[in-house]
Amino acid sequence: MDTDTPLIRLEGVKRYFGSGDTEVRALDGVSLTIRSGEFVAIVGQSGSGKSTLMNILGCLDRPTGGTYCIRGEDIAHLDADDLAALRRQTFGFIFQRYNLLSSITATENVEIPAVYAGLSTAERREKATALLNRLGLSDRGGHTPNQLSGGQQQRVAVARALVNDAEVVLADEPTGALDSGSSDELLGLLEELHGSGRTIILITHDHAVAARAQRMIELKDGRVISDTGTSDARPAQEAPYRHARSGPSFVGQMIESVKMAFRSLRANLFRTALTLLGVIIGVAAVVAMLAIGQGSQREVMSRFESMGSNLLFVRPGAPGTRMRGDAIATLTLADADSLGELDNVLAAVPSRSGSATLRVGSEDYRTTIEGVSADWPIAQNRGLKYGTFFTKDDVTHRVGVVVLGTTTAGNLFDNVEGAVGQYVFLGGAPFEVAGILEEKGASSWGQDQDDVALVPITTGMMRLFGQSYLSSITIAVDDTDRISDTETEANELLLERHGTEDFQIRNTASILESVQDTQNSFSILLGSVASISLLVGGIGVMNIMLVSVSERTREIGVRMATGARRSDILMQFLIEALVVGGLGGIAGVLIGFGVCFVLSVNGMPVAVTVMPAILAFTSAMVTGLVFGLLPARKAAHLDPVTALASE
Ligand code: ADP
Ligand code: MG
Repeated sequence: MDTDTPLIRLEGVKRYFGSGDTEVRALDGVSLTIRSGEFVAIVGQSGSGKSTLMNILGCLDRPTGGTYCIRGEDIAHLDADDLAALRRQTFGFIFQRYNLLSSITATENVEIPAVYAGLSTAERREKATALLNRLGLSDRGGHTPNQLSGGQQQRVAVARALVNDAEVVLADEPTGALDSGSSDELLGLLEELHGSGRTIILITHDHAVAARAQRMIELKDGRVISDTGTSDARPAQEAPYRHARSGPSFVGQMIESVKMAFRSLRANLFRTALTLLGVIIGVAAVVAMLAIGQGSQREVMSRFESMGSNLLFVRPGAPGTRMRGDAIATLTLADADSLGELDNVLAAVPSRSGSATLRVGSEDYRTTIEGVSADWPIAQNRGLKYGTFFTKDDVTHRVGVVVLGTTTAGNLFDNVEGAVGQYVFLGGAPFEVAGILEEKGASSWGQDQDDVALVPITTGMMRLFGQSYLSSITIAVDDTDRISDTETEANELLLERHGTEDFQIRNTASILESVQDTQNSFSILLGSVASISLLVGGIGVMNIMLVSVSERTREIGVRMATGARRSDILMQFLIEALVVGGLGGIAGVLIGFGVCFVLSVNGMPVAVTVMPAILAFTSAMVTGLVFGLLPARKAAHLDPVTALASE
C-alpha cells in the first residue's frame, strides 16, 4: 500500500432517507480523511448523523451520493459479498447496546466473525479464549450474555470486534450504556488498542469521552463543522495481520451452519418439538400407509396366485352384465360336460351354490352349500383332511353325500375326524359325510373358505336349489402356456352351443390385473392422504421459520455486521429448516416402522420396504428445503442497517 493513500477518504458523502417532503438529509456532503493508526472521535448532538456516518464507514450502508474510498478503492465498485468481506476483515464494530447473541456463550459470541472468516474450530476457540483472557474475562467465557454485567458484555463485544484482527475499530456510543467505572475501563482499552497500531473511530455525543481521542470531528445536521485535524503524524502502516480475503470453505460453512441450526433449535425447544411433530406425523403416515397398502396388495395377490394360474372362469350373462350370475339361466351341466371334452382341459367343474341349514341331532348350522362335480379337488387344487371326495358315480346317481369344510364340521360334530360316515340332514334328507376338506383359511375378501359344504351338483339341483342352471363353470387347464388358446376354444364352443354370447370367460391373469388396479388405486389414495399430512407439516416448518426470521432480525443484523455474507445467512436458515426436516424424517420413519410392527403383530398384512422410507425421508428433506427457502431468502435479503436497528 502506498503510504500516501489514506485508509479512509470520504468526499461529499450524502445519505438521504425518503424523498420529497419527507426527505431527511442525515449526511449532507461529508468530506474527511482518516489515516491508518488514528484515534478519531466523531461528536455531535443526537440526530446529527453520527450513526449514519458510522454505518457508511463500516460498509453496512451505502452513501446516496459522493465517494467513499477504502485504501484508495471506491466502494461503489464493490458488490454485497465484497462489502461483507470488508466488514469481516477490516472492521470491528462495537455498539452501544453490545449486540451480543443471547442464546450462545461469550466465547461463542466472540467466535462469530472468525466462523465467517473460515477459521477452524480449534483456531478460533484459541483466539477467542486468548482475547477474553486479555480483556479480563478468563472465567466468563462459558457464560451467556445475560449472566454478565454491562461492562463485561461490552468487553465481550470488543473481543468480538478484534477476533479477526480488524484494522479499524468502529465504536458507536460504546460507553452509552455503561457506568462511569466501566466506561473509563473501556476507553482505556480503546487507547490500548490504538497503542498497538489499530485505527479507532469512536462515536459519541459526550465531549469528555471524545477528549480521550487524538482528533475530534464534529458533526451538525449531517455536515462536518469542525475537525482538529491529523495531530498524530504516525505513518500509515501496512497491516501486519491480514487474512486471505477468501471466506470459509463450503464444507466448513455447512458444518458450522448445522451446528448453529441445532443450537438455535435447542434454544426454542418447545416450538421445535411442535414443528417436528408435524413433519414426524406426515412421514410416519407415509411410511405406515404405504406399508399397509403394499401389504394388503401382496396378500391379495398371493391368495390369487395360490388359487392357481391354470384356471378359466365361465359365468353366465353377456359381457358387461351386472346381474348376479345366480339369476341368469344360460349355463347348463351339458355345457360343463362339453367343455370338459376340450383339448388341454383337465377338468371343467360346474357349480351352483345356495345356503341351507345342516342338522346333526340337535345341532343346527347354516352355511353355504355348493353343488360341484367330482373333479372339484383337481380344479381347486385342494385335498381332503379325512375321508374321500364324492365320485363321478355319486354325481351321476344323485347320491346324498356331502363333503364338509372344517368350520362347518366343527360346528356340527364334537369330533371332526369321527364325522366321516355319519349322516347330516340337509333339506330334510339324510346326506352321508364322505370327507372333510383340508383347511384353507380366510379368502382375500375375508370369507372363511372352510365354512362350506359340498354336494354333488346333480343332487343339489334336485333336492336343494330347485334350479338346473349353473352359476359358474371353473375350467382347469393342463398346459398353462396354452391357456389363451383354450380360452378361445371354450369361447367358440359355448358360442356354438348357445348361439349368442350369453356368458363370459375370464382367466386368473385378467382377474389378477383388475384386482391389482383396485389395489393400486387404494395405495395411491393412502399415499395421497399421507402426502397431505406431510404438506401440512411443511407449512408448519415454513410458519416457524418465518416467525424465527422476524424474531431473529437483530441476530441477522449482528451476523451481517460481523461479516456474514447473504449466502451465509441463506444457508443458515435453510439448514435450520433442513435439520427440522431431517430430524422429523428420521423420527417419522422410525415411528412409521414402529406402527407397522405393531400392526403386523396384530395380524394386519403390512409390507415394510425400504423404498417408502427413503421416499418419505427424502420428501421430508425436500419439504424442509422448499418451505425453508422463502423464510431463508427473506432473512438473507434483510438490509444490515435495518436488521441491526430492529428490536
Ligand atoms: P445520531 O446517531 O447522530 O443520533 P443518526 O445518524 O442516527 O444520528 O440520524 C441522523 C438523522 O437521520 C436523524 O434525523 C434520523 O432521524 C435520520 N435517520 C436515520 N436513519 C434513518 C432511516 N433509516 N430513515 C429515515 N431517517 C433516518
Ligand atoms: Mg446514533
